Amino acid sequence: MTRTTPIPGTRIGRRDVLHGAAAGLVVASAPQIARAGRPRIVVVGGGWGGLGALRALAPGGAADLVLVEPHPAFVSCPLSIHYIVGERPFADFEHSYGALDRLGVQRIAEPALAIDRDRREVVTSGGRIGYDFLVLSPGVEYAEEAIAGYAEARSALPVGFRPFEQQGVKALVERFLAEGGTFLISVPKPPYRCPPAPYERACLIAEQIARRGTKGKVVIADANPQPMPPPIAKPILEAMRAVHGERIEYLSDHEAKAVDLAKGTLDCGIADVPFTHANIVLPMRAPRLLREAGLGERWAAVRLPDFRAQADERIWILGDAAGTPLPKSGHVAFNAGIVVAQAIERRIDGAPEPAPAPTELPTGICFAAIGSDRAIKINVGANFVPGETPKLRFQVDPAPSAESSEAATRWARSMWQSMLG
Ligand SMILES: Cc1cc2nc3c(=O)[nH]c(=O)nc-3n(C[C@H](O)[C@H](O)[C@H](O)COP(=O)(O)OP(=O)(O)OC[C@H]3O[C@@H](n4cnc5c(N)ncnc54)[C@H](O)[C@@H]3O)c2cc1C
Repeated sequence: MTRTTPIPGTRIGRRDVLHGAAAGLVVASAPQIARAGRPRIVVVGGGWGGLGALRALAPGGAADLVLVEPHPAFVSCPLSIHYIVGERPFADFEHSYGALDRLGVQRIAEPALAIDRDRREVVTSGGRIGYDFLVLSPGVEYAEEAIAGYAEARSALPVGFRPFEQQGVKALVERFLAEGGTFLISVPKPPYRCPPAPYERACLIAEQIARRGTKGKVVIADANPQPMPPPIAKPILEAMRAVHGERIEYLSDHEAKAVDLAKGTLDCGIADVPFTHANIVLPMRAPRLLREAGLGERWAAVRLPDFRAQADERIWILGDAAGTPLPKSGHVAFNAGIVVAQAIERRIDGAPEPAPAPTELPTGICFAAIGSDRAIKINVGANFVPGETPKLRFQVDPAPSAESSEAATRWARSMWQSMLG
């Protein structure tokens, strides 16, 4: 297998796009796609970002579309806490890729192992997939080495901040609710995926403690001085106290350094925090696939406002893997996919690059559930101004409400419909 060799991007024009297509699709497990002189766009990752791009590019676009995604169906992290605490079935969060098949998107059910930028190919175990344009939205990877002892205890400590991991966390929560004790949730320093999610998890587990009469409590060991992001700290802390009282203990400035599963302690430098069950939310970074392709260090280096890789003119990187000041949120990822689709379509059409000008960046919507029927809604906006770092504008509910809880369900259903309906 050819190793990935990072090279600087090359300048290309319409002629190159139409006639300089890279090698044909040679994945053994997938039929050859007729090129017919059309450019091919390969999307790696069928989550929020990848689906945003695909739905904006299909149908009837000027390119052949290929999705490289190892899982047979999409699974949503947003709202999955309701599955974890046993309130909603897994089926609510899992959605078939059938809509993509009907739109003519070719799916390769394998992980991308490498990106060969020299040859413009995505490498899988089945072969190589040539691309003219590449969209990368593979989500996040956990930095396990940041917490000593974690790797050895991995199977007992599921994180559940990536799709397809929620079952492990649900089993852990069920054990705690049956046995009682101390359920520890650790929070890393940002940037990490969906900053309010650890507090939401604490709240819904605390609600189940009360409902099921479990003898125990939840302890949050937060690496930060207050819940993240700062604009949500006050409403989250107030709501945790008012609704869950002593069922949640909040420890600020407790950054996890080491875990000892046999002793049941999390070393946070200033103190050892004891636990009987633990959900350690690890620090995160872009998947190795991107770093090995020379596309960034901890996060992928992209330019705003169009999310194009700084190192390569034919690659766009979006979703949580991208290093931008925007929140790592599904709503941002999906809408970034639309921006990326428009940028690629402009390239295919041979349109000149728009001159950098102020514009609105993809917005974020996030819901922090405080109980099964109340939530805090968080809206985040940001403008792109050439030469400036975007500043985030937050709009946060001052207190949880049933209205925001219902809005969360409506929002998620409409997003899943836009992705795969
Ligand atoms: C508990 C929780 C609650 C959340 N709540 C909200 C919310 O209320 N609102 C909100 O907007 N966001 C929320 N989020 C955040 C949201 O889930 C992420 O921001 C979003 O999933 C990012 O999209 P993505 O495309 O970057 O990654 P993902 O959606 O994770 O998709 C990545 C995809 O890439 C695939 N993949 C990975 N590696 C490879 C590879 N090598 N080859 C091929 N495919 C690969 C994976 O299988 C996956 O399908 C929440 C997250 C969590 C954990």
